Amino acid sequence: MTQPTSIKIGISSCLLGEKVRFDSGHKLNKYATEVLGGYFEFVPFCPEVSIGLTIPRAPIRLVDIDGDVRCVGVKDASIDVTDALKAKADEQVHWHQDLCGYILKHSSPSCGMERVKVYNKSMPIKNGVGIYAKQLLENFPNLPVEEEGRLEDPHLRENFIQRVFVYARWREMVEQGYTIGQLQKFHAQHKYIFMSHDQTLAKELGALLAQNVKDSLEEVAQQYVTAMMQLLKKMASKRGHVNTLKHIQGYLKRALDSEDKQELNDIIEQYRQGLVPLIVPITLLRHHFRRNPDEYIDQSFYLSPHPSELMLLNRI
Ligand code: SF4
Repeated sequence: MTQPTSIKIGISSCLLGEKVRFDSGHKLNKYATEVLGGYFEFVPFCPEVSIGLTIPRAPIRLVDIDGDVRCVGVKDASIDVTDALKAKADEQVHWHQDLCGYILKHSSPSCGMERVKVYNKSMPIKNGVGIYAKQLLENFPNLPVEEEGRLEDPHLRENFIQRVFVYARWREMVEQGYTIGQLQKFHAQHKYIFMSHDQTLAKELGALLAQNVKDSLEEVAQQYVTAMMQLLKKMASKRGHVNTLKHIQGYLKRALDSEDKQELNDIIEQYRQGLVPLIVPITLLRHHFRRNPDEYIDQSFYLSPHPSELMLLNRI
């Protein structure tokens, strides 16, 4: 299956090794630069430098002031950059709208996506969102966004990159102009990915396109992409994958002899028990479908959701 060629991903500049942090340092993330850089076109941005803060600069933090979370100087709380960071995020909409994902620096009062320390009169509570990140998330609720720290977890990493590729294919289709038939084809291509995340929600998603809706095509597409990106945020479970693998196996029931069927059953069972990673049953299925092509499975992205060189299915 071909994957989209140009995938733009926003990224906190310090993660690319740019020395933009308050202490003139950086937070180079080698997975981003050395691995993902081969597949994505990164668009770096440092909101703090962008609002005119210097390098080096006095550190800032989130503070709860009577229920209002503000981003202020650690030493001088009269320095308040909350509104400037918010406005800066809004100013970036012209390039944010071209993105297929965003990788943010964790725990930053500007860039952190979740669990950023919020100070108050007593102990700080880790329940904040960086001011720039919050605005980005509000402006683009469907955009796949993740933090570099969380990308170290193989499951979260696979989930994020899968969302990026699905979203990139969606955007590619929308940019080329689409019909209800193309939306339905898109759904068919991703149905098994959706099923691995949540079978019920996958059915509801399909129903959005199947029903005789009175809404315009654009409205249907908007409802669909919102529901799809919400569904994909729900992590695919082992049970979900086993269920999906079994469904796909059903397409081979006439093609395989009893020995091949038994081997496939055994491998899926080994995956279920955690003895082999997902790539093992997927590779065996790919092998059988190469020998016994099926039109529906050929167009499905479940067996090749992202470039295999990323080896994302090898650790889940
Ligand atoms: S504001 Fe964001 S990009 Fe800039 S240094 Fe802090 S975490 Fe990195």
